[in-house]
Amino acid sequence: MNKKKIVILGGGESGCGSAILAKKMGYDVFLSDRGSLDSKYQEILDIGGICYEQGAHTHERILDADIVIKSPGIPDSAELIQNILKKNIPVISELEFAQKFSSAKTICITGSNGKTTTTTLIYDILKDAGFNVGLGGNIGKSYALQVAQENYDWYVLELSSFQLDGMFDFKADISIMTNITPDHLDRYEYKMENYIKSKFRVCNNQSTSESFVYFGDDKAINDYIALVPDDVRSLRYSIKDDRSNAFLEGDNIIVKVDEKSLIIDQKNIKLKGLHNISNIMASAIAAMLAGVEEDSIKKTIENFGGIEHRVEQVCCINNIIYINDSKATNVDAVWYALESATRPVVWIAGGTDKGNDYSTLFDLAKQKVHTLICLGMDNEKLIESFEDIIPNIFDTGSMQDAIYAVSESAKCGDVVLLSPACASFDLFDNYCHRGEMFKKLVREMVTTNN
Ligand code: ADP
Repeated sequence: MNKKKIVILGGGESGCGSAILAKKMGYDVFLSDRGSLDSKYQEILDIGGICYEQGAHTHERILDADIVIKSPGIPDSAELIQNILKKNIPVISELEFAQKFSSAKTICITGSNGKTTTTTLIYDILKDAGFNVGLGGNIGKSYALQVAQENYDWYVLELSSFQLDGMFDFKADISIMTNITPDHLDRYEYKMENYIKSKFRVCNNQSTSESFVYFGDDKAINDYIALVPDDVRSLRYSIKDDRSNAFLEGDNIIVKVDEKSLIIDQKNIKLKGLHNISNIMASAIAAMLAGVEEDSIKKTIENFGGIEHRVEQVCCINNIIYINDSKATNVDAVWYALESATRPVVWIAGGTDKGNDYSTLFDLAKQKVHTLICLGMDNEKLIESFEDIIPNIFDTGSMQDAIYAVSESAKCGDVVLLSPACASFDLFDNYCHRGEMFKKLVREMVTTNN
């Protein structure tokens, strides 16, 4: 019998992982990448004996596939994908493909913000508790590669809406929705409803034995909650509603699942901000559902120091605190960063605007921000939005100039917050590059001035 033909589009982490798994499972595998492959991935493909091309797509070969696995970065609107779909060839994601070969249980986290923080925290809790657990999805090593090479009992998977769009039969044992606020609308015909529906695919195929954990204070989630299948067990967490499975009472985070309960004093945790309280609630509920002991959950949460580029404290010099929140690439993430500020703020923002509506930030900006340093190729929209709200505004086009503006404006007792609300691609390779530049130049400035 002829082998089934799989074509993999995109040769990054997920594509290469899928290729290794598909080869192991006996498929005829061909990987195609329009750009150039990273040498690390070329080596993996060469060692695995996998056929591939780079720099162009050979359409005839791709259109001859039985199944196509598409990198989440390629939009459905791309001409090649449209041609594949016209031929009724299934186009799926790495996760959809890989789960067919795994019997491990999954905890799947989606949302507009908080995915990486929550995913990492849950993974740490399970690992510290001695679970045999892998971490994957949008984060770390490819899930498919781990399915091919490891033998985990559990996976904690971060899922973007782009990945969810390529998932049809995939089922999460525990799904989590952290929030839904406007992001990536360019991939959803600029319709919020399409984006929301895409996020709700995380509970597709779930039934009586599975659970859906969600942030009950989120309007979009509540508006569309009917999309959760009726028989799924839903567990809610909320900052303010004490009828939820997790909520805040004074300084205490209370979590209740069945007969188990957990109390964590906010003063004992390192993570800052209300958004992280909700990430902790989601993580604790998921871990309790997975069967981790309450004391063990509490210990890991109290030790968790957060992740680089997410409201990360860089240093405190001359009583000025410097915070790197370069991963705040949308308005909602910035709202939480400003909300958590307890000092007057020098705010650095800007970059590639994704159709932002800044009005939700006006109140916080008025109360807390005395200086806005715009950092982008084109700062016009940002300046226009805040010129009547923030007293001092600088227009800068490089991190060097932005840091110079910081040295001109930050005073003893302030916090300097890089929380851009925008993507980084106008001036930087990615958000990590932007955050690293910020940290480096801040440290250089403080050593030169001291
Ligand atoms: P994601 O993986 O969804 O992008 P991250 O955990 O990497 O989420 O955080 C991205 C940005 O969003 C950071 O600026 C972070 O401080 C902020 N953030 C984290 N959790 C939340 C949340 N629950 N709600 C709003 N913003 C959040």
